[in-house]
Amino acid sequence: MDIASLRGTYDIFPPQSRIWESVELEARRIFNVYGCSEIRTPIIEDTRLFTRSIGEGTDIVNKEMYTFPDRKGRSITLRPEGTASVVRAYLQHSLYKDQGLCRFFYIGPMFRYERPQAGRNRQFYQLGTEFLGSTHPYYDAESIALLTTFFKTLGITDAVVKLNSVGSRSSKENYSLSLKDYFAPFIKSMCEDCITRFEKNTLRILDCKNPACRETIKGAPSTEHALNQEDAEHFHSVKEYLCAMNVRFEIEPRLVRGLDYYTNTIFEVVHTRLGSQDALGGGGRYNNLVEEMGGPSTGAVGFAVGIDRLVMVLEKILSSQETALSDSLDVYILNPNDSLSADHIVMLHALRSCFVKADMCTEQKSFKAQMRTANKLNARFVLIHGEDEIRQSIIKLKNMTQKTEEIIPYTTFYTAVEKVIERIGKK
Ligand code: AMP
Repeated sequence: MDIASLRGTYDIFPPQSRIWESVELEARRIFNVYGCSEIRTPIIEDTRLFTRSIGEGTDIVNKEMYTFPDRKGRSITLRPEGTASVVRAYLQHSLYKDQGLCRFFYIGPMFRYERPQAGRNRQFYQLGTEFLGSTHPYYDAESIALLTTFFKTLGITDAVVKLNSVGSRSSKENYSLSLKDYFAPFIKSMCEDCITRFEKNTLRILDCKNPACRETIKGAPSTEHALNQEDAEHFHSVKEYLCAMNVRFEIEPRLVRGLDYYTNTIFEVVHTRLGSQDALGGGGRYNNLVEEMGGPSTGAVGFAVGIDRLVMVLEKILSSQETALSDSLDVYILNPNDSLSADHIVMLHALRSCFVKADMCTEQKSFKAQMRTANKLNARFVLIHGEDEIRQSIIKLKNMTQKTEEIIPYTTFYTAVEKVIERIGKK
């Protein structure tokens, strides 16, 4: 076939899709515990939503959006991130009116036209939360605690939380001015992008990946001195709450994020096993966005995790045995007969109705070949009910891990099924 998936997009199929599934399941479980409810927004939006919220001077808006005219010439964009759409929905449906603090979560694909490499795709997936309706620093800390709890439940204990605060609008402006002063003598020797950023959006220079620019960035002033008293107090409280919740973090005094809407607390979670694209997720507070989009002044904080990168880490830390187990079968029913037995079909159906992950052999194969299939499917048990067993009114149940065999009496169909379920530990 001469048609393949587009560059920067990929198919997710078993056994890897099992990991995706368990990540999403675990995320939903944790989000529920923290009182977040799902919000599903469209994948296509009016382009202005992103140019206004993410910011004109950002890489996402300047270079990475999938933007095209629809059939009536309106500019449409495939969402590059989730926050803007959540805020649009929050405003469009006046959710701020009667709900107090809204805690949302989302899971879904995002699109950015970036140069693909390991951990960087053009269609990638994020899961995230947005808390809208409070400026309290506790919620900054709670968002980070939620994120680290989620990683821990997945078995990721060595992700590092990097934390900073860019402050509110006035502190950000202060910071921007001190960065301008600092970079002014160097800017001519910096990359083209930095020269543009210097004029349009000085903070963005700190994001530059160019090795020569990075050397200059190392000496740039930190955000700390630019924070006004209120912002400094807010940041102090966030750190206190994190310590109270036993969440470890590192202060990264020059951390800024690639989207303009952030104010005050910002954070990023990195993992050493990811290589150059080491950010697993990130987020922060965005107290001005709702107002800038035409709504009332609303405190908000959120984060997004890259599921693609999360799966990459999990594949590295899970042993192959654990991955195989997640893809295992509870019972494989052998077919010792010449044709498919109605008895086996009914048995399979009964087991599945009781949430036992079962399958059966539908082909006429030798006992050895069927056992090979059972092994390939990672069956924990093999059930044998052939002519010999029928004559003796029994079922043989082989435990494939312990290499033992048990005889189960087959007095009635239901008692036999019940016994099988009991033996494989599903009851
Ligand atoms: P951002 O929305 O840029 O703050 O990104 C949040 C997280 O999404 C990052 O930390 C990455 O884990 C993930 N991410 C962002 N862009 C990509 C991409 N192009 N490919 C894969 N994951 C991405």
